[in-house]
Amino acid sequence: MSRDVSGAENLDVVIIGAGVAGLYAIHKLRQNGLKVRAYEQGSDVGGTWYWNRYPGCRCDVESLEYSFSFSPELDQEWSWPERYGNQGEILKYVQHVADRFDLRRDIQFDTRITSATFDEATNRWTVTTDNGQTITAPYCIMATGNLSTPRKPDIKGIDSFRGKWYHTGLWPHEGVDFTGLRVGVIGTGSSGVQSIPHIAKQARQLFVFQRTANFSLPAQNGPLDPVKEARHKAEYPERRAGAVNTPFAIAGYPPPTKSALEVSAEERNATYERKWQEGGSISFLYAYTDLLTSKEANDTASEFVRNKIRSIVKDAETAEALCPNDHPMGTKRLILDTGYYETYNLPHVKLVNIRKNPIAEITEWGIRTADGQSFELDAIVFATGFDAMTGAMKEIEIKGRGGVTIGDKWKDGPQTYLGVMVAGFPNMFMVTGPQSPGVKSQMIFSCQQHVDFIADAIRHVRDRQMRRIEPSRMAEMSWVQHNNEVANSTLYPLANSWYMGANIPGKPRIFMPYVGGVNNYVKKCEEVVANGYEGFEMSA
Ligand code: NAP
Repeated sequence: MSRDVSGAENLDVVIIGAGVAGLYAIHKLRQNGLKVRAYEQGSDVGGTWYWNRYPGCRCDVESLEYSFSFSPELDQEWSWPERYGNQGEILKYVQHVADRFDLRRDIQFDTRITSATFDEATNRWTVTTDNGQTITAPYCIMATGNLSTPRKPDIKGIDSFRGKWYHTGLWPHEGVDFTGLRVGVIGTGSSGVQSIPHIAKQARQLFVFQRTANFSLPAQNGPLDPVKEARHKAEYPERRAGAVNTPFAIAGYPPPTKSALEVSAEERNATYERKWQEGGSISFLYAYTDLLTSKEANDTASEFVRNKIRSIVKDAETAEALCPNDHPMGTKRLILDTGYYETYNLPHVKLVNIRKNPIAEITEWGIRTADGQSFELDAIVFATGFDAMTGAMKEIEIKGRGGVTIGDKWKDGPQTYLGVMVAGFPNMFMVTGPQSPGVKSQMIFSCQQHVDFIADAIRHVRDRQMRRIEPSRMAEMSWVQHNNEVANSTLYPLANSWYMGANIPGKPRIFMPYVGGVNNYVKKCEEVVANGYEGFEMSA
């Protein structure tokens, strides 16, 4: 790698992160003849799938869909053992991609980026690492992930706990054996719901501390049917091409045509039952056109799921506590589980409703709730989520024009143009940043689509002998406004979700993902390019 007089290493593009986004960025930009390098905090590739190793961790998008689409050969070569990939299988796949496309030679592992500063005189980013390295490049890509900053709540007394505690998003690589232990799990989002049945299999006693009940549907996971796999692989070209015309970037689900309110209750329940048996969240949300836009329509689906919970969980009080009733179904990320509700029928598993009776403190011996009850524990699992969408970037001291930090810029909530760039931060790109549809889509598709857009933008700038690209403030403001308008035309803002920043005390409550659909988002990106990068300003 070349160095400047100060000893800094020089690149064309510095990439932060070597999860699926960072890996594809290396591949794509290298193909465009650029000198790139990714810096990764972990000791291997994989991002989410490297860190989230909790028992039961599994993707909620089917494995034949949740994969890179840039290589038809890769599509045909890889075989998934199950309908939904588990963490180990997905990590193996991502590692295979890194090896097959020789990406590792441009990755530096075990390296945390601490700062990134734009120099207005040279139009270069200077990036520093936690081991004292300095790297400079005209372009910087934040491939830092949306759910990559685990957060443990600040509960009084945690330091006094004599047992062990874990966070699902930072799970020990050697695994954890809960055999014979008394375990407490705090949190019932996807991570909690997926891990609880597995922990229950080992633990002597399991207490689940639930603040908010969530909607979970059966994944109906199982070995992948070889006939289905062969058919899907034969259809890959059309399916991959068709994904772009769908809201979630997943083809193969016929879009709904009817409102839930224009059919009889019998017909509706029969449809929901069929979807429940089929498994998967997209199929369920695609039952009717208005499940995410009409509260009345949504109530029919929400009540169907609540009745399912009541029919599975034998203890009536526990069943009622597990019934979500503070948000419409689907406005928080729908969870896919295997045997979650059934777990509460086991005699050693108990639900503790901390909405009614909050955690007062963690003691030497366990958890004490506000009513004075003590739960003696050997281990506590925090399944309490992430500082989503903005957390990872805010952890880096990113300074744009005039020394303004990303923390200053986003103090009232994130502002971006297309979820790809931020006004005031020239030449810095984000892969699936806030106000992009990333987290509301088949994530690998969106990572690729964003990287392709970024790679084209960089080529466009370089081809014109320009040295700086940045969105105009006007374009940014109007995209943020559009994002809010789209969100407000749906039921999404009714939920206290991580989409809203609601899970982090003090975080601005702004609905962050673009929920207008991947199809509309991609059309917008294409229009922007066709109109000469409309909304972006370029200079020499
Ligand atoms: P999450 O959805 O944010 O859930 C966190 C849970 O912890 C919630 O039940 C929350 O309760 C609870 N919690 C947070 N702070 C608490 C506190 N101070 N006291 C008590 N409870 C507290 O986090 P997650 O389960 O890790 O999932 C995050 C996202 O990651 C998912 O939505 C999904 O997009 C992704 N993910 C996907 C998969 C998959 O593909 N299958 C698996 C895991 C994660 P409240 O609801 O009351 O805040």
